[in-house]
Amino acid sequence: MPGRQKRYPVSFANMLIVVVSLCAALLIAVVFILQQQGMRSWYGQTTEKTLAEKSQYISHRIEMYLDKPHMAGVLLSHLDNVAGKIDSPAMEHELQHVLEEDFAGANSISRIGIASSGGKYIAFQRHPISGDVFMIKSSPVDNQNLIVYKGADENSGIASRVEDFHLDSRPWFIQAMESDKPFWTNSYYHMFANDGQVIGYRLPVRQSNHVFSGVIFADIYTSVLNNYLKKLEPTENSALLLVDGQRHIIASSKSKWLAKQDKQAQGGDAKLSSISTYPKLETLLQGVNLKGQTSQLAQLEGDNYYVLTHAVNDQTQMLGWSLVIITPETLPSGMLKHADARIFLSLAAMIIFFLLAFIFLVRHFSRPLNNLVQKARMLGRQPWEPAGEKRLYPEIAVLEEELDSASGVIFDMIADQKQRIEKDSATGLLTRSGLFNEPSLYENRNLMLMIRVTNFRDVRSTLGHTHSLKFIQFFAENLLQRCPDESIFCRYSEDLFIVVFPGHNEQKDLDTYWGMLSSLFQDTPDNRMQTDAEGRTYIFTGQAGAALAELNKETVADCMMNAGLALQQSRQGANGECVLFTPQMRELELNNICMHQALREDLQNDGFHLVMQPIVSLDNTTTFNEGECLVRWVSPSLGFVPPDKFIGLAERTGMITSLGRWIIEEACRQLAAFIARGAPEDFKLHINISPVQFQQSDFADHLLNCILRNGLMNRNICLEITESVLLQDSTKVIETLSYLRRLGLSVAIDDFGSGYSSLSYLHQLPFDCLKIDRGFVMELMNDKKSEAVISSVIMLSQQFGVPLVAEGVETVEMGEKLQAMGCEKSQGYYYGRPQPFDVWMPLNGTVLL
Ligand code: C2E
Ligand code: CA
Ligand code: CA
Repeated sequence: MPGRQKRYPVSFANMLIVVVSLCAALLIAVVFILQQQGMRSWYGQTTEKTLAEKSQYISHRIEMYLDKPHMAGVLLSHLDNVAGKIDSPAMEHELQHVLEEDFAGANSISRIGIASSGGKYIAFQRHPISGDVFMIKSSPVDNQNLIVYKGADENSGIASRVEDFHLDSRPWFIQAMESDKPFWTNSYYHMFANDGQVIGYRLPVRQSNHVFSGVIFADIYTSVLNNYLKKLEPTENSALLLVDGQRHIIASSKSKWLAKQDKQAQGGDAKLSSISTYPKLETLLQGVNLKGQTSQLAQLEGDNYYVLTHAVNDQTQMLGWSLVIITPETLPSGMLKHADARIFLSLAAMIIFFLLAFIFLVRHFSRPLNNLVQKARMLGRQPWEPAGEKRLYPEIAVLEEELDSASGVIFDMIADQKQRIEKDSATGLLTRSGLFNEPSLYENRNLMLMIRVTNFRDVRSTLGHTHSLKFIQFFAENLLQRCPDESIFCRYSEDLFIVVFPGHNEQKDLDTYWGMLSSLFQDTPDNRMQTDAEGRTYIFTGQAGAALAELNKETVADCMMNAGLALQQSRQGANGECVLFTPQMRELELNNICMHQALREDLQNDGFHLVMQPIVSLDNTTTFNEGECLVRWVSPSLGFVPPDKFIGLAERTGMITSLGRWIIEEACRQLAAFIARGAPEDFKLHINISPVQFQQSDFADHLLNCILRNGLMNRNICLEITESVLLQDSTKVIETLSYLRRLGLSVAIDDFGSGYSSLSYLHQLPFDCLKIDRGFVMELMNDKKSEAVISSVIMLSQQFGVPLVAEGVETVEMGEKLQAMGCEKSQGYYYGRPQPFDVWMPLNGTVLL
């Protein structure tokens, strides 16, 4: 059923896609992380190495640059007799030549000159921006002021003057006079130009007798140095610093770290900034030994910076400066990172491409598979329709082919099974399902007849399957022949048939139909046997129940039940009886259900007891040596229930088996006690045995055992049976009875003359006594027919040589008449009602009435 299909949360295809997608995502993530980490450390190493190399190169270049003043000084000091001609025009010319020729270019010394002990000052200077060389010279008049010319000679015109310029008040001149060695000045401001700070190299010149003759000086503009550093920056965002031993910033590629120009401080020392002035710089350089060559990664505001230091000196080794290179970590690797991202992106794109291809394939495979599953759900319910599209995959194509052929087989099997379920193979009639599944067959009809062929099972067990098959087929044929056209027939179970008659019917129609059908079961000498085409003869016994009610899908089950109840009722009647359902039957059935329950309970709770009714010899009606044992039930819930009411129910429900066993046990016990009380040892007790009890395999053993256990003799017991025992497995019954008779028990045929009314069985059935049915005896006095029956039964018993017991004698006249007719024994209220055993009084080897 499609509605009942179990739902699975995730299909295999989806699971596969999810798992592979997760793997792909994981792979991308792993590649990303590995690449990040790997590249980062690689960047780090590369950057640091590159920077270290660069710092060496930069510091070398700076050193070369810083060496220039010294070299210029040395160059000049090597002039022949420099001390002697320090004030000479030749010297003047030499100075200009050195600046313009030997140290040309913007990134070189910016001023070179000589100050003589005679107070003379001559210098050539390069303008830091225009690069033009101009001359500064002591006034020819006196040495008290300096003239700044516009060009390199006196003809170029005067640009400005520096008044009161006294060499011997300049600190560097004083230092030079006192010193033999060259030295560097601090950063200071020129006296005569607003062109910023300079750092000066001073080379004292002495005559051979060590008399001071002057000082050669060569200066570097700090601004030029700053620009030079800028050019040397290893990367765009790097910063270069030149720092002195006191962590003052001499020069920097970044102007933000430089002290402001002080235009007022002409001729004085410059006030340099210290590293500590700049907190960020201070943080970066914290703990860095500026004097050594170091390289480290420092952190500032979450960013990493490479900080490299390198000692810087000119050849005189006097400067003792440090070069500091600061480079943000990310910058040098930026280019690499781009490349890196490209690798990563192409890898991720590849993974995603494979993933999409995989999903496409899985979907492409699972879609036809799902279609196949949908179709397979209808397998056998509808013909297989081959897929329109061509199958790409052999697996699915083969599966489809297999399902196609399986579908055909299942379809045929289901059709075959349906046929078998709905049609009885033996008779060709509808089965129970066949009738139920096709309401159109019985709709608009109202008469249902249920017929049981009661001897079918006997026929089968005695004559075998083949014969019983022909038997039932022949019955079905006869049934069909006798019923009107358009009747519907169903073999409900092996011995039960249903006929639904056409149209709307009344009770009289049932009588008509049954009139036609009942002859099937007639057991008269001229119409006993039915003969088939091959000359075989059959006897059918059976009964029928009918129900009159409008039939449709809703009522059919009830109607069947009602017909069944009527059939049950008919079983109490004779062969060939048909009973129409009445609502009372259902009431009775309900009562039976209650009684059934009570019977079951009281059987366990000792709700039963036995009584005995005397059987007297008609020639002595004052004592008796024989009696019939009868069961009594006083139910706590239902009160006294007569045996006629519950014995039949006990038989139908099978409870008679245990009740019967109890009766036999109790009867033997009571009889033994009765004999012990003085009853004759050969007292014969009749026990009623229901036909069902003979079905018990250990019936005889149990009975004999009870007799033995209670110290009785087998001849103490007479089994009362009715003709109906033969309706069961008669062979078995006859065998059991013969066996028991051989052992000394006797058998009485009860209710003789009623019911089955076939005398033929008397040949087969072993018996020692006949009991004529109470019905005939009751009518004896006023019905000649009954009298005739009784006298013929008396004759019959005499011919068989067995005694006859007349039951139901209520008056003295009846007894006398029976005796006159030749009846030997009698039983009835007139002689004694059934009473508990201990009510009867034994006396002198007999029992008193
Ligand atoms: P049954 O075997 O024919 O028993 C005789 C019935 O006739 C008894 O009815 C008895 O009380 C009654 N009867 C005897 N004399 C007279 C009379 O003068 N006038 C009238 N009107 N009735 C008389 P009971 O005891 O009600 O039993 C009815 C039937 O129940 C029995 O008929 C028997 O078929 C069955 N039954 C009773 N006890 C047992 C039993 O222990 N086992 C079995 N299997 N069936 C039993
Ligand atoms: Ca009886
Ligand atoms: Ca009887």
